[in-house]
Amino acid sequence: FIVTERVCKAFGTQQVLRDVSTVFNTGEVSVIIGASGSGKSTLLRAINRLEPHDSGCIRIDGVEVSDDPATLQRQRSEVGMVFQQFNLFGHMSVLDNLTLAPRRIRRTPRAQANEQAMTLLRRVGMHAHVHKYPWQLSGGQQQRVAIARALAMQPRVMLFDEPTSALDPEMVQEVLDVMRELARGGMTMVVVTHEMGFAREVADRVLFFDQGGIAHDAAPAEFFEYPASERIRAFIGRMS
Ligand code: ATP
Ligand code: MG
Repeated sequence: FIVTERVCKAFGTQQVLRDVSTVFNTGEVSVIIGASGSGKSTLLRAINRLEPHDSGCIRIDGVEVSDDPATLQRQRSEVGMVFQQFNLFGHMSVLDNLTLAPRRIRRTPRAQANEQAMTLLRRVGMHAHVHKYPWQLSGGQQQRVAIARALAMQPRVMLFDEPTSALDPEMVQEVLDVMRELARGGMTMVVVTHEMGFAREVADRVLFFDQGGIAHDAAPAEFFEYPASERIRAFIGRMS
């Protein structure tokens, strides 16, 4: 589980995270929604230490996120991240995309890494494309490979930052289906998304970000049926 305690972050004079305190429990799917610029990506990036925070504390399974190299490497391999832009290694086959980190960081032997990769690719329905390069795949296919690649490190938590926002509409569902399966399997997930259907059906809780803080945090039924403010009601209306 992940705990954030009064996490603050500024870029120059702009305060982007203001005292963000919350817990992402093990096995829970948390969906974060909120206006552009409200700090959603910054929070995910802070959890992964892609962006150091200024004050407050983030702990993953009780261990504080910091710049200590050994801790950082261990935590990064425990926390998988999927971005809006698929970020696959363009000069590597699908298979090599999946096996690179396990072989380099976990020292998994090639044969075993390949076998694990095939199992994951089957799970995301991409096993027929194992020898292709990213440019030979559709956006939805690339994103499913990106999810499988993150899973190859056997993370305990998966962070998703608008994983379907860059996709053509007909490819959104195939990626959401993979995420839904992952949730069903009990993965701890923090998902920034504008997909209100996914939030309603899959989330255990929905957090509404506003100007760098958590303005509301509720179970989806309550969140959508009884919007806590006019702002939230308007936001849901625009997104649905
Ligand atoms: P969106 O929905 O558009 O993705 P967001 O909620 O993810 O928005 P963030 O990306 O966290 O928002 O950005 C929050 C604010 O911080 C924005 O005003 C953004 O311009 C600013 N910001 C983010 N990263 C940087 C950076 N590296 N340098 C300066 N400002 C930044
Ligand atoms: Mg963002």
